[in-house]
Amino acid sequence: MAVESSWNGSASNATLFTNVRIIDATGEYPYTGEVLIQGNRIKQITKGSSRFGGTSSMTYGAGTTVIDGMGATLMPGMIDAHLHLSWNNAPGIDPIQMMEVEEHMLVTMEMAKLVLDAGFTGGRGAAAAKPRLDVVAKRFINEGRFPGPRYLAAGPEITTVGGLGDSAPSHIPHEGLNLGIVVSGPEEIRRTVRTLIKYGVDSIKLNLSGEEITGMGAEETPMSEEEVAMACSEARCRNKVISAHARSSGSVKQCIRHGIQNIYHASFADEEALDMLEAAKDRHLVAPGIAWLINTARHAEQWGIKPGSRLAEAYERELEMCIATMKKMHRRGIRICIGGDYGFAWTPQGANAKDIQTFVDMLGFSPMEALLAATKYGGQIMCMGDELGMIKEGYLADLILVDGDPLSDVRILQDKNRIIGIMRDGKMYKTPQMNEQRRRLTA
Ligand SMILES: [Zn+2]
Repeated sequence: MAVESSWNGSASNATLFTNVRIIDATGEYPYTGEVLIQGNRIKQITKGSSRFGGTSSMTYGAGTTVIDGMGATLMPGMIDAHLHLSWNNAPGIDPIQMMEVEEHMLVTMEMAKLVLDAGFTGGRGAAAAKPRLDVVAKRFINEGRFPGPRYLAAGPEITTVGGLGDSAPSHIPHEGLNLGIVVSGPEEIRRTVRTLIKYGVDSIKLNLSGEEITGMGAEETPMSEEEVAMACSEARCRNKVISAHARSSGSVKQCIRHGIQNIYHASFADEEALDMLEAAKDRHLVAPGIAWLINTARHAEQWGIKPGSRLAEAYERELEMCIATMKKMHRRGIRICIGGDYGFAWTPQGANAKDIQTFVDMLGFSPMEALLAATKYGGQIMCMGDELGMIKEGYLADLILVDGDPLSDVRILQDKNRIIGIMRDGKMYKTPQMNEQRRRLTA
């Protein structure tokens, strides 16, 4: 196990993984083989076992770092479809919004490291707490100056008066109190979308439904057709992707009518919405954010949401709907991604891989299907499906090396000690220490 590479990329820019069991996330069965990385891309994959001890059958250049996987699993790095790197693991929305911007920027970078440490090498920003937090985080991460997942930046959620993200009391009508940017009417939404694009966001996030914890019910659909249409046309003319917080059935239908690619939540989608979605399934991806529902309903008592309370019961009911709806979507071949809305005290950043287990345990996914929801479809929700999320020649080298077989037990992906290697953009962020690993396992 040569270990010459380093995060700053000062060593050779080629890495060869030998003796690895490859889950390539194309849907194929795992196979033993070798994977050569050149620069930041996968150069070559060979099937078949190499001679023990890491001697490779592949031709590779001098100075190549060889990592003998000793039978560990090599798979694409996980991708979270619904990341909020600026949600600071706080016990509620207000402490996220009230944090001052200087601290908030640093905390955002701390969160980015937690997510990468958990084996997540990519993520799509779902919304930021302040206009430029995601934009700056993305730039510093992608330039390799701070550790974090390959990231796409969102701006704050755009919401309507009284909707999710408008929490200012009537006597202090100041927009700085709100997590979202509150708009009313097409011209206001036009200006907001243009402003966020000016700041550098990759995607525009619209809050098309309510959210129980904020007082506007999850089944309400507060944004007008004119407002949604305006936001979409403004985003599209600048080639930006649109994401929507869409719990209600009406809001899911709005997403389909207006071609909104990323549909978050979708718990209450009715049969008509499912028919519409199935007919347009090549254009949309769904991420239910299921960890938020589970943990808010069942594991937030310490933070004031007692199981059995009206609020917890509302989330319990939505969870039940979400499970039924996601099972139907899965049967209809609609693409569903992991991404649990992490970033609150009861859904801490870094626990993101729990979603994979939830997809298996609650939604009836096979372990392989759940892994695809965390890799292949993650690449697609980042609009990089032709170069990210699978182990294929020419794809970006965002990879993890896992001690064990995630297909026989997906829970091992939640154990950072079992994620023994992390490569992002062709550089080893975490280098496996195989001998020590073996000693630990046999001890
Ligand atoms: Zn969210």
